[in-house]
Amino acid sequence: MDLNLSARDLAFRDEVRAFLSTALTPRLAEAGRLVTSVFVEPRYSLEWQKILHAKGWVAPGWPVEHGGTGWDEMQRDIFAAECARAGAPSLSPMGLKMVGPCIMGYGSPEQKAFYLPRILAGEDYWCQGYSEPGAGSDLASLQMRADSVSDGDGDHYVLNGSKIWTTHAHHANRMFCLVRTNFEGKPQQGITFLLLEMNTPGIEVKPIITLAGEHEVNQVFFDNVRVPKSGRLGAENDGWTVAKYLLEFERGGSAAPGLKVSLSRLKAMAAAETSDGEALLNDVHYRARLAEAAILLDAIEMTEHRVMAALSGGKNPGPASSMLKTQSTEAMQRLDELAIETAAHYAGVHQPEAREPGGNVEPIGPRHSLVAMPRYLNNRAASIYGGSNQIQRDIMARLLLRI
Ligand SMILES: Cc1cc2nc3c(=O)[nH]c(=O)nc-3n(C[C@H](O)[C@H](O)[C@H](O)COP(=O)(O)OP(=O)(O)OC[C@H]3O[C@@H](n4cnc5c(N)ncnc54)[C@H](O)[C@@H]3O)c2cc1C
Repeated sequence: MDLNLSARDLAFRDEVRAFLSTALTPRLAEAGRLVTSVFVEPRYSLEWQKILHAKGWVAPGWPVEHGGTGWDEMQRDIFAAECARAGAPSLSPMGLKMVGPCIMGYGSPEQKAFYLPRILAGEDYWCQGYSEPGAGSDLASLQMRADSVSDGDGDHYVLNGSKIWTTHAHHANRMFCLVRTNFEGKPQQGITFLLLEMNTPGIEVKPIITLAGEHEVNQVFFDNVRVPKSGRLGAENDGWTVAKYLLEFERGGSAAPGLKVSLSRLKAMAAAETSDGEALLNDVHYRARLAEAAILLDAIEMTEHRVMAALSGGKNPGPASSMLKTQSTEAMQRLDELAIETAAHYAGVHQPEAREPGGNVEPIGPRHSLVAMPRYLNNRAASIYGGSNQIQRDIMARLLLRI
């Protein structure tokens, strides 16, 4: 694996840098910098998505026939790294990285023609209805029932039950979800994958306020919600196959570029803070912990390049995606802990108004301490969602140790 950029890659990197230097407005860059979660408020992420769409760069991972860029693995990595360095707000993965590829894989020609262009253009905002109060890690035990009805109004499913932890359901106009269409046999065999509209009568979205004081997740209740059968993706009772396909995409993507940006911000913070009259950055114990984090990030970056090389050679990355999910979320949490220690008592000030991009509320304490605590609290969830780290360790053990 050659990690040096070729002349072609360097020219591509310059092209991306030139584009970002003009297209990324100061307002969007500020939103990217102040965000405390992987999910950016849609008023910023959709604005950025529309700019990327106009340039034809919104879906680096999609095949060209559906509006993708045709970039190779290295170009996609360069693009992700440059966006992270420039502080671009991240785009919601729900449409572009999750349900989009599933529609490509399992959708009818009509579904592809309808949904895919809308996802690219940011006309639809999706949420994911998988988890339920009694079904998270053990997702196949989900119970939300979908009864089949055929009446004067056409063929429908009638949904009853609830979904929980549904990120941005309060912003979304569409949901992709898993429902139970058969209660007999193996749990995986009675699940169906549905696409539905959030304004359908009988749907109620109730907020769940996180430890960080933010409204990002919800519980969604379904009371006799009628969904046309044309919204089904794949065959009835075969939704588990589609869901597994989707989970492969949920875990993909490069984490190292974003983590390296967090590390360099942390260094800048530590250079400005003092301990016993000395810059914290010069403290030998602090430096040792920064060095440990930096080594971990280099290891993650190398593993990501290894996966890229495997994928571009047509090979399966094996347990590496579980390894990367675990390592990158734990590295993120380690950096967050260091940021809290660096901000010290100013980390404890709850001041969401001062974090509003474009706002004029002056922060209490240094500006660099503003996001330390909400990021720390928010990122505690990173080792839970997308398959918890304990579950990832189980997968690695099974694949590597064959136990
Ligand atoms: C911020 C946030 C956003 C989310 N967004 C969404 C969303 O948009 N859509 C959606 O559908 N879901 C979403 N989720 C839900 C997420 O996928 C689940 O929380 C996750 O799958 C864990 O399920 P659970 O919460 O039911 O915990 P449980 O499955 O009950 O797990 C509890 C603990 O037990 C451990 N555990 C469970 N089973 C095993 C096992 N077999 N071996 C070892 N340890 C085990 C887990 O690792 C965890 O530590 C989100 C969650 C969070 C926190």
